[in-house]
Amino acid sequence: MLDRRRFIRNSLLTAAGAGLAGRLSVSSEITPEPGNKLINRRLGKTGITLPVVSMGTGNAGNPALIRSALDKGVKLFATAAAYQEGNNERMLGEALKGIPRDSFMILTNSFDISWIDTPTGILRPDFSTDELLKRARASLTRLGVDHVDIFTQPFAARRESVFHGPAMQAMETIKKEGIARFIGIATHRYEPEAIRAAADSGIHDVIMTSYNFLKDNRDQLEDAIRYAADKGLGIIAMKTMAGAWYDRERTKPVNTRAALKWAIRNENIHTAVPDSSDFDQLTRNIDVMSDPELTGQELKDLFPLTGEKITDIYCQQCGECLPGCPYGVDIPTFMRSYMYAYGHHNMPLARNTLSEAGPAGNPCSECITCTAACRMGFDIRKKICEIARISDVPDALLPKDFIWR
Ligand code: SF4
Ligand code: SF4
Repeated sequence: MLDRRRFIRNSLLTAAGAGLAGRLSVSSEITPEPGNKLINRRLGKTGITLPVVSMGTGNAGNPALIRSALDKGVKLFATAAAYQEGNNERMLGEALKGIPRDSFMILTNSFDISWIDTPTGILRPDFSTDELLKRARASLTRLGVDHVDIFTQPFAARRESVFHGPAMQAMETIKKEGIARFIGIATHRYEPEAIRAAADSGIHDVIMTSYNFLKDNRDQLEDAIRYAADKGLGIIAMKTMAGAWYDRERTKPVNTRAALKWAIRNENIHTAVPDSSDFDQLTRNIDVMSDPELTGQELKDLFPLTGEKITDIYCQQCGECLPGCPYGVDIPTFMRSYMYAYGHHNMPLARNTLSEAGPAGNPCSECITCTAACRMGFDIRKKICEIARISDVPDALLPKDFIWR
């Protein structure tokens, strides 16, 4: 039954992919930069022009990788205070030290995750504007800069999370005080709702959203992205690699180059922030800046005619499973942690993500039968039991590239 469900889903994706064939060429809206082959777009009303490929630094631990990206034309680096408990910001700051401030841009956020109800994105009553400002300034210190270019409210989801009065005031203060030139939201769940809310809010400049070829809600997502772009917001795509692998054993890789091309073929995506953990991956990503056309083979890789490439790694974050769990387990967050562990092999990020789901431990250990159903056919209990073990591993035994079996 599950196989059949997954096959049907894959067939739908295949059909959707085939439907794209007529609009694969990269739009004329993409502007080649005079004098070089890099392709640039304007980040909405911010007026910033930047290459269609930027860099997420969450998987990077080496300042030399950042400097190499900069040398190759990358302008925007996306980090977060939560990555490696602030050490990712420190690493980025170290890499950018001494480099003229107007030659790079930084996106970050410093929200305390315990303030956020992650399934809805709504901030809890203990959210504190003063504390957020303190945290944002601490990010500047770690980064070694006097401002960042973009500061985001993470985990925006339901409309109320974007229209949360104290959060809106805090974000406006961050901009008014010059901590960030521009403000925005980042969204992993209910993205179309969050994107439309940010576009309607009147205060946000930028939206960072999950966007990739495996998204089931792609049509609604693209409608919402178009709506926000038409209102002048800058749109940044994240999670473009869709987990990087289809299976936990890592026998079926996602064609990540094709996946990135697929994301930026949408002219309303102004830039993408794929993670690069090594020089090979960085080179593959950067090559796409000047060669964004999807080939026929790449299209087949993303949307195969048979069902052999079905993800067991990438969770849609749709939340449909949530009502089925009587214990209120934040299943999508466990699944995101699972993707970081088995797809990206980023164990610190996987564990950090687990902490978003609540107290350490396995919430499914006492449950004999799982009553939560996944639209993708995931065995939710099995995956949670596998990933929950990570919270018991001491830090010293959890290097970034530790392979979790
Ligand atoms: S196995 Fe876990 S996710 Fe499933 S119903 Fe039980 S507690 Fe909830
Ligand atoms: S586990 Fe399945 S149902 Fe739950 S959020 Fe992920 S894709 Fe959706």
